[in-house]
Amino acid sequence: MFDSGLAASLALAMVLCAPAASGARAPLPADDSVWITVDADIFASAQRRLAPLPGLAGGVVLEKLDAHAGVVLTRLPAAAIDALAEIVHTEFRRCGGFIRHASRARAEAAMDRLREPRLLPLVLPFTIDQQAWVAALAGQVSEPAILSTITELSTAFPNRYHAHHAVHHSADWIRNLWLSLAAQRPDVTVDFFDHGGLTPQPSVILTIPGSSLPGEIVVLGGHQDSTRFGCSISSNPACVAPGADDDASGIAVLTEVIRVALANGFRPQRTVQFMAYAAEEVGLVGSEDIAATYDAQGKNVVAVLQQDMTAWEGSVQDIYVYTGNTDPELNAFVSDLVETYQPTLGWGSSTCGYACSDHASWWQFGYRASFAFESTFDQSNPYIHSINDTVASFGGSAVHAAKFARLAAAFMVETGLDGVVPPPMPFLDGFETADTSRWTVTIP
Ligand SMILES: [Zn+2]
Repeated sequence: MFDSGLAASLALAMVLCAPAASGARAPLPADDSVWITVDADIFASAQRRLAPLPGLAGGVVLEKLDAHAGVVLTRLPAAAIDALAEIVHTEFRRCGGFIRHASRARAEAAMDRLREPRLLPLVLPFTIDQQAWVAALAGQVSEPAILSTITELSTAFPNRYHAHHAVHHSADWIRNLWLSLAAQRPDVTVDFFDHGGLTPQPSVILTIPGSSLPGEIVVLGGHQDSTRFGCSISSNPACVAPGADDDASGIAVLTEVIRVALANGFRPQRTVQFMAYAAEEVGLVGSEDIAATYDAQGKNVVAVLQQDMTAWEGSVQDIYVYTGNTDPELNAFVSDLVETYQPTLGWGSSTCGYACSDHASWWQFGYRASFAFESTFDQSNPYIHSINDTVASFGGSAVHAAKFARLAAAFMVETGLDGVVPPPMPFLDGFETADTSRWTVTIP
């Protein structure tokens, strides 16, 4: 059947996406639009399904303002973002699928970078040669500690939707938890990264400064927000979204790596930053803002590892290293880390389309990023984005998540250290209250 409406849209799209260079794009009137880059298949569906969007007079007319390599640049009213996210979830069973950019200029720059990606050095600056440190830190990863963090975050803060009125409470809790783990380390800082008008939810960043290569930054990230479809989270306090797997499990993995690193006096040569991103579920808002800021400041982020959903053991292999919007060389390094330090585990590859989690924010600026995930994409946790994304849904156990914490610890050590360093001192009790500074290992 011929669809005249679709034909008109396609005709408009052909006109609008004809110019390839950013300078040739047509001017558009100012309004409350938000600018996104989105997977082309999601765009095609959203064009149809958002047209009659209830609550928005006249629906939403999505224009294809630019397109390249399966990614479309468009804009939509801010009020339609949740509806777009719901299409991604219900029709494509994905998280993310689009990146919300802070401005039209940033969205257009993202398209330009798709056409001309930043050239990276051919050789990774890391090797796998820090067995003593990895063994010490990964060996102390505690499954009960990870489970405790997941449980606390998903039950005490069962609604971490980015625009929820109490969203600062969970961000405060993460910051205070990380501050408590850094109590004996005055060199370690924990800060909010405020995203201005993009979202009221701040990201949280813990920084272990590098001793000899402080300008080279390693990032380990996960997202603190949660979401639930079919329920108006911003206005209904009863509408809980526990997000235990998605992504309290990622924040818990980061927290456990921080705990074992700081309890053992780990002092990297490169700067290591742990990031609890805001507002991932509505277009990778927090990570995009941070990555854009770092890019604008010329910061040299040398490696990024994303931890989003680690607790659901849904596939035959243990750890899946995702291709697409990630760096092949860093991915090979990550799988080497699994083989070297967790040789009894199996790893596999899978893919989840454009911008399925925060690694894509870094990737789009040309930074090397990898994404380690709980299963194949098809076999991932079916309860996410619902009231049933609870600890009980994955058996009340963080055994699977602990594999990711050991991997993340190995990643932090092998990317954070460079060359020969003294081995770690004997194990310290992480809950030691006495002065433990005498145990500190100083790495030249
Ligand atoms: Zn997620």
